[in-house]
Amino acid sequence: VNVTHIPDLDGEGGVKGFISLISDISNRKATEKMKDEFVSVVSHELRTPLTSIYGALKLLVTSPQSGLSEEDREMLNIAVTNTDRLVRLVNDVLDLERIESGKIQMVKQPCDAGNLIQEAIEVMQPMAKAGNITLIAEPISIIINADGDHIHQTLTNLLSNAIKFSPPHSSVWVTVDNLEDEVLFKVIDTGRGIPADILGSIFERFKQVDASDSRDKGGTGLGLPICYKIIEEHGGRIWADSEFGKGSTFYFTLPKSGLSSSEKLSL
Ligand code: ADP
Repeated sequence: VNVTHIPDLDGEGGVKGFISLISDISNRKATEKMKDEFVSVVSHELRTPLTSIYGALKLLVTSPQSGLSEEDREMLNIAVTNTDRLVRLVNDVLDLERIESGKIQMVKQPCDAGNLIQEAIEVMQPMAKAGNITLIAEPISIIINADGDHIHQTLTNLLSNAIKFSPPHSSVWVTVDNLEDEVLFKVIDTGRGIPADILGSIFERFKQVDASDSRDKGGTGLGLPICYKIIEEHGGRIWADSEFGKGSTFYFTLPKSGLSSSEKLSL
């Protein structure tokens, strides 16, 4: 049940008492569950045929024997780009649903934050080079208790956004600070930034600064909600700071509580 207390005012600014509203939300919860399951099943069923369509189109467009005219190739390239986006969208929907429903659990073990950052930078290097952007991170070693694959996914999502929304010849920094009870990661860019009225809801599904962001930049609008869930599952926090037109900084923390005292001492 959901309980809401509404103040009963006396007309002169005072409170006479409270009216309590008790509503049974089990039906709503069941409907939400059905909706999530439906999205999950549909996405799952879409994934295999979409992946095969993508593979076939890609083969056709890259094969020297296909004898395509320039015009045909252009049309096919549009189909490849859009199928690729659909495959990523379906994968992101499934990812988010699996983490939210607890089907994917975070497998936490001691790992080095410095290594995770270097690995994420390596993976994102081709995208950064294509946009003429320099990725910068100081070599550092800090042991954290985390699911390395999922923190890698969080870092690559944040880096991919930072690169997408930065101008050519700029830099993106990744830093990590060793605080008393937690470790603080920052991904800093000097790009387009996020307006103040959107900043508070930027981690919601399909929230975008500009309606054309997913079309022009190839995003799915689910990257940040996935990061949010991953960090929440670790018992950490994630948030963003930004000045529109000047750049953004995305922060996330991971608690040190899962580390043994000897691991904490070695920090
Ligand atoms: P997408 O797949 O569209 O990037 P995200 O959930 O990762 O989805 O991000 C949602 C939106 O937040 C983006 O489309 C963009 O409008 C905005 N955004 C995210 N990161 C940044 C950033 N570093 N700089 C400017 N805008 C950003």
